[in-house]
Amino acid sequence: MRPIFEIQATDGAARNGRLISAHGSVDTPAFMPIGTYGTVKAMTPEELTDLGAQIVLANTFHLMLRPGTAVIALHGGLHRFMHWPHPILTDSGGFQVFSLASLRTITEEGVRFRSPVDGAEVRLTPEDSMDMQLALRSDIAMALDDCTPFPATEKEARASMERSMRWATRSHAHYHQSEPPGGLFGIVQGGMFASLRTASLEALLQRDWSGLAVGGLAVGEPEEERLRVLEGLVPQMPADRPRYLMGVGRPEDIVAAVQRGIDLFDCVIPTRHARNGHLFTSTGFINIRNASHQMDLGPIDPLCSCYTCRNFSRSYLKHLDRCKEILGARLNTIHNLHVYLSLMRALRAAIAEGRLSSFAAGYLAQRREAAGAVA
Ligand SMILES: [Zn+2]
Repeated sequence: MRPIFEIQATDGAARNGRLISAHGSVDTPAFMPIGTYGTVKAMTPEELTDLGAQIVLANTFHLMLRPGTAVIALHGGLHRFMHWPHPILTDSGGFQVFSLASLRTITEEGVRFRSPVDGAEVRLTPEDSMDMQLALRSDIAMALDDCTPFPATEKEARASMERSMRWATRSHAHYHQSEPPGGLFGIVQGGMFASLRTASLEALLQRDWSGLAVGGLAVGEPEEERLRVLEGLVPQMPADRPRYLMGVGRPEDIVAAVQRGIDLFDCVIPTRHARNGHLFTSTGFINIRNASHQMDLGPIDPLCSCYTCRNFSRSYLKHLDRCKEILGARLNTIHNLHVYLSLMRALRAAIAEGRLSSFAAGYLAQRREAAGAVA
């Protein structure tokens, strides 16, 4: 089923919507926890649901290497393979190939690279990416794009964007060859150049996409650059389609992007940081590895209502982390995901009630203050 997007309320540029797919609906703005290998690390699907996750992102690149899409197709798709009955977005595999794979060669056809698992040569074309995402039976698939590095000259960004647009055309044609299980999103590229971003959007809009993503941000650019690109681009994007800002980011980045009209987010930060003992609080963050937490009987955050904060002390979490106990990673992940998913709930409520700007101003001021006082 092709996803349907309904907007329920707007507040400035921000939207409170609902994305409806064959596996249920997602309230937006939404954060998608990352399930790289078909698992959000350390969480059961039931725990994710209890935390309020309505959609997860899975990485096509990792799943194509291990276990391979044939194994997942044997289960009838990724939902049954990973026991996640709710919506799934899969990426195209492109970003990981560009950022992780060694010995990659980019041609007009696609990308060839050496598998980091067994060294075998692997090919990833737009058609290959579509075939794999169709085999995974994701609710939302992403077009294969050429990831423009940062920094890039105008000439480099243009060549990369134009290749992405040719690949988007091929992705679109291949995905829609027969009745697909979900919808396909196109990805706007163009680096930090407003005119290239507009040209990329115009090229994409020659085809009908279930949603549009903004790619090529969160690649090391300064925050002001990212906001400038969003402020130029988002008002030109069709209002009736979901808008997905790929790979962003910190809680304050999400708030700023929601204010500018973005609906969907993904980022490794909450889950990866949790496993490294980096825990978000209502006033900033703490690192549970710091000695100051050894004798601290308090929770990570006295204002947090998550399972971890209701039941465990910083002292115990520090002990688990130091002994590399698996439970430490689990409890930390529960807390960080709760922080992110609660923030999304608060943002949706603020938009629905028309008080996003005061909510965001208060939230961003608190984070700025906290940035100066890290425990
Ligand atoms: Zn908590």
